[in-house]
Amino acid sequence: MIPVTKPFLPPKNEYNALIDQVWQRNWLTNNGPLVNELELKLKEILNLEHLLFTSNGTIALQMAIKALELTGEIITTPFSYVATTSSIVWESCTPVFADIDPQRLTIDPHKIEAHISKKTSAILATHVYGIPCHIEEIEAIAQKHQLKVIYDAAHAFGVKYKGKSLFSYGDISVLSTHATKIFHTVEGGAVVTKRPELLKRLAYLRNFGHDGPDQFNGVGINGKNSEFHAAMGLANLSYISAIIEKRKKDSFLYDEWLLDKGLLRPTIPPETQYNYSYYPIIFKTEADCLNVFEALTRHEIFARRYFYPSLTELDYVSGGETPICKEMAPRVLCLPLYYSLTNAEIDLICRLIIRTLKY
Ligand SMILES: *Cc1c(COP(=O)(O)O)cnc(C)c1O
Repeated sequence: MIPVTKPFLPPKNEYNALIDQVWQRNWLTNNGPLVNELELKLKEILNLEHLLFTSNGTIALQMAIKALELTGEIITTPFSYVATTSSIVWESCTPVFADIDPQRLTIDPHKIEAHISKKTSAILATHVYGIPCHIEEIEAIAQKHQLKVIYDAAHAFGVKYKGKSLFSYGDISVLSTHATKIFHTVEGGAVVTKRPELLKRLAYLRNFGHDGPDQFNGVGINGKNSEFHAAMGLANLSYISAIIEKRKKDSFLYDEWLLDKGLLRPTIPPETQYNYSYYPIIFKTEADCLNVFEALTRHEIFARRYFYPSLTELDYVSGGETPICKEMAPRVLCLPLYYSLTNAEIDLICRLIIRTLKY
């Protein structure tokens, strides 16, 4: 069986050494020393001023929306994981979908302005597969119309754009460190901001609004994460360069097999240092995509249709017209990509794809 992804597990003794510290201290959660250490290391590695580790990426998105006091409409992408849209709805705002750029598959900045109304408060865009959005154009639109910008950077760990971590863009960037992501803490996420006042707000939000043991600074939620999750993160962090290198090698191997076979790949913009977090391919038609999906499944190879269907199809949103996304989403398939994937497995996957397509 070849799944689409397999979580990386660090050597058990390295994880256990950190867990021994937990036993010694008897401190399990609530901003413990391992959580602090992970936050410090992440800030150092990614060269970020502020970062708060959270219980997951979805709560981090919700905290970002709350911290920016967003109301009314939020312009967002229809091509992302469901959490991008559901967080907007959960925070009692309305998602308004702007269509995607067919090359990058991220939100098309030229489609944003037509959706701006008096009720618009923000843009929530996803660096889908770790591919940078059109950051400068989005920034300019936000400035012109006084909108906030949140980036769902769940896929973007280790990506640099113009020499800086992708997490350093926008009012708030949100990451996920879920087990399926390139850097993981089993469950987890983080919020990143450059603005100290926002950081303060986010810190209150993460911890029930606690301002000392018996005072509260506004409404909060439990967005904290534990020492055990931080330990997994710290143990994994030593391997993140090796993980990215391995995925890069595997992606090039896939490229060699597939790129002259009429298959397309999303475009990564210049000045990007990419993380190879996914291997999406774009077929000419949905029928081709489904044929390949089924052929792989028959061999117990489980590719995933990330991200199908378009989020405009959710029954709790009023979708709007995003023809490019409607056209692209059914044609994209993410092939298996993970640290322990072997060359022989990649060869098998590619042979099956080529045999099925007969392009
Ligand atoms: C994984 C993911 C999330 C949610 O993160 P969790 O940590 O699983 O809550 C949000 N957005 C995108 C694009 C994701 O892929």
